[in-house]
Amino acid sequence: MDKWLKRRKFNDDNSDNDNVRDQVNEPTPGTRKNTSCSKKYVVHRKYNDDFLKFGFTSTIENDIVVPECMICGFKLSNSAMVPSKLQRHLVANHPSLSTKDKSYFERSLSSKIKQVTVFEKQVCVSEKAQVASYEIAELIAVNLKPHNLAEEIILPACRKIVKTMIGGSADINICKIPLSNDTIHRRIKDMSENIEQNSAKTLANSNFALQVDETTDITGNAQLIAFVRFIHENDIIN
Ligand SMILES: [Zn+2]
Repeated sequence: MDKWLKRRKFNDDNSDNDNVRDQVNEPTPGTRKNTSCSKKYVVHRKYNDDFLKFGFTSTIENDIVVPECMICGFKLSNSAMVPSKLQRHLVANHPSLSTKDKSYFERSLSSKIKQVTVFEKQVCVSEKAQVASYEIAELIAVNLKPHNLAEEIILPACRKIVKTMIGGSADINICKIPLSNDTIHRRIKDMSENIEQNSAKTLANSNFALQVDETTDITGNAQLIAFVRFIHENDIIN
């Protein structure tokens, strides 16, 4: 068996002990750095609340916590998460703030968080507003009304109704419903494509009657109308 084993050549004095170590991949203390078997364990530094006195908060980049300057937004590497490097950035890039204490940066951070929260509330459209937008688009499509009706008539009418009957901030919440001309057009297009896909999927697996007719709209363009009648779950659907 010994002839198949590749063993390193060491000093004669320690040859027996070292051969045993090679077989179990355990390098000797003296040769630990030079062996290819040794693994590199990367230790990530953690953020400390005291780093705020250097004007640094933490953020996550590529699943690693890194320090972020709250003044200029510059992100340092995780290895720079030590007081000396953070302080160096503060003194070199923001010398006027290098003498500020931790409470100054705490106040700056809290006001920054408030600004972000207010901005998100203003920009983000809630899920209810999206549903309401689709429902109004459906009403317009079913009644064959112009797309700009929502923006010019429905929204102002809703605001007046809510302001009179409920009051408070309900009027402002109504304004968050996206009802512009382009939005209604896009909603109707999305719903049409969805209906078309579902209908095609249903018709592919059932018998149906098809009636086709042609007409001309007010602009003189020819229109093809198709009527489909089929049975779906014991109901006749047109
Ligand atoms: Zn900075």
